Amino acid sequence: MNELILVKYAPEIFLKGLNRGKFEQKLRSNIKNVLKGEEYEFVTDQNRWFIKGPEAERLLEKTARVFGVSEVCLVRETERTMEGMAELAIQVVASHPKGSTFKVETKRADKRFPMNSMEISMELGGRILDALEGYSVDVRKPDITVNVEVRDKAYVYIKRVRAVQGMPYGMNGSTMLMLSGGIDSPVAGYMMAKRGIEVHAIYYHSHPYTSERAKDKVKELAGILSGYTGAIRLHVVPFTEIQMAIMEKCPEDELTIIMRRFMMMCACNLAEKLGIHSVTTGESIGQVASQTMESLVVSDDAGDRPVFRPLVAMDKTDIIKIAEEIGTFETSILPYEDCCTIFVPKHPVTKPKLKIIKAHEQALDVEALVERAVEGREVFDL
Ligand code: ATP
Ligand code: MG
Repeated sequence: MNELILVKYAPEIFLKGLNRGKFEQKLRSNIKNVLKGEEYEFVTDQNRWFIKGPEAERLLEKTARVFGVSEVCLVRETERTMEGMAELAIQVVASHPKGSTFKVETKRADKRFPMNSMEISMELGGRILDALEGYSVDVRKPDITVNVEVRDKAYVYIKRVRAVQGMPYGMNGSTMLMLSGGIDSPVAGYMMAKRGIEVHAIYYHSHPYTSERAKDKVKELAGILSGYTGAIRLHVVPFTEIQMAIMEKCPEDELTIIMRRFMMMCACNLAEKLGIHSVTTGESIGQVASQTMESLVVSDDAGDRPVFRPLVAMDKTDIIKIAEEIGTFETSILPYEDCCTIFVPKHPVTKPKLKIIKAHEQALDVEALVERAVEGREVFDL
């Protein structure tokens, strides 16, 4: 059977003044990346992209996960004759139970074909009715829609699958994702990647207060994300010295907010060194004491580049839904401690005042602490 995959991409690209050629190039190379190791051929027919290969179902599944792809369809190909198209259209309808209603929907990209779309649909509908018993036409609410495209060749759709949508990965700059072992930050990273932003990850590790297994969990989460993006680089930054210094020199109720400022400073410092544009966190407003509006203001002040919080206005249940869909949830709920649960004050300030926090922070050699932590990082490619 001559089955192949038709790849459609986000309609957004036609609406915006974006550079379409660049978009297509990037998308194509991203598809190539996820299909590495597969046997396939990439063909085009009048601006349509097709993937041909023996394992069509698997190729379809993988392609559906590439950001920027909006739909993937399993199609059968035939010569551009009425007989060829009718044979396939009949097969499609016959594969549904008797009693089903159908309609034929045709797109004629090649205007040299002597009949117009409507005429082709009607002719095919008639031929289906002649060939098969027990089926009828319903143009309003059919059980089966037979999609046909007439190009250099003709194609009849077998199956349509909604793909991830979004923008091609790597098209829209880069971000340093603060990746913890929790539920939220992997989802935040996924959302940024989906908008075409290249993701680098940073994890603050408090050895020996957090175990190797906590680190492994973060590595695993980065690995799951890389299934969508291609390799992700994870920077594991030693954080114990900073936390000890804060514990020793700053008021107990300010530990968390000062620690968050240091996280921000380290992320920005490393982003600067690596030429990464922005920082992303998994924070969501009101979720915990350190995620009040006042706290976000105080931690933002510590950074010197845009900080994105794609989850800021999302409910936890909706975040969890995405985590489940993208496959990070099961790993995220594994019970390994993170650095924040170990150094938690009993009564953290929830409305920190920037001036006061900054004054207390001055007790520390901030720059040197940040520099040493960042320079002491371990790097993993996942
Ligand atoms: P998550 O589920 O992502 O862990 P959370 O709801 O537990 O988030 P916090 O622990 O307050 O919230 O962390 C808020 C954000 O700060 C996280 O989403 C993440 O972006 C970042 N973060 C927290 N701890 C770490 C860490 N050890 N390393 C890197 N980033 C961290
Ligand atoms: Mg957390």
